[in-house]
Amino acid sequence: MNDTYRHKGMRQKLTELLATKGINNQKVLSALMYVPRHLFLDTAFEEQAYKNKALPIASGQTISHPYTVAFQTQLLDPQPTDKILEVGTGSGYQAAILSHLCNKLYTIERHEALYVETARKLNALGYIQIRSLFGDGYKGSPRFAPFDKILVTAGAHMIPQPLLDQLKIGGTLVIPKGSSHTKTMLKITKEAEQKYSTESHGAFQFVPFLEGTVGQAV
Ligand code: SAH
Repeated sequence: MNDTYRHKGMRQKLTELLATKGINNQKVLSALMYVPRHLFLDTAFEEQAYKNKALPIASGQTISHPYTVAFQTQLLDPQPTDKILEVGTGSGYQAAILSHLCNKLYTIERHEALYVETARKLNALGYIQIRSLFGDGYKGSPRFAPFDKILVTAGAHMIPQPLLDQLKIGGTLVIPKGSSHTKTMLKITKEAEQKYSTESHGAFQFVPFLEGTVGQAV
């Protein structure tokens, strides 16, 4: 697969649609326009890549809905100097978007097979600056902490303390949280050690944020 004018046209339409739905950060819209979402999917889904919907990827997971990716990115508000951790690499699409907007992007996935496949794909697409990690995102990445921002792209039933610990003071954690299938998008700001403020930003659906890993460390 490659990226053609036809794909760019479809991407333009999707980006315009997202702009009508409240995505108004120009840098986020530019990144959405730039990253070819169809290249993060199996060829079978090429025609659907620019519809505003979630689609299946390997290991029984899904690539997030484009609006969800746009919304989470806008809420995280990445800055060019930021060091960011994404939890839930999945297809790598959200990681690619973030990598255009920050200084250093780390992304962690619990499914070994998906981690291997996506790390390879990101490299092949030229995203060599993204650092892919295999592990349990509940533990974050003590090795590369602290982070300016952390984005969780799976639905959590609780806020993992390690993620809060690995934020810099002034840093933010964006995480969908709730006890049912539908999660509330939370933006948590670390005001000081052990002092946090939380904002709620509406309801979203996600695949579950599960503890532990599937497969062996490589
Ligand atoms: N950001 C992804 C979304 C994929 S869906 C994308 O753009 O495609 C969420 C992903 O989170 C899945 O791949 C799932 O395996 C992963 N995940 C769930 N729990 C996790 C955990 N504890 N640690 C790391 N990844 C996790």
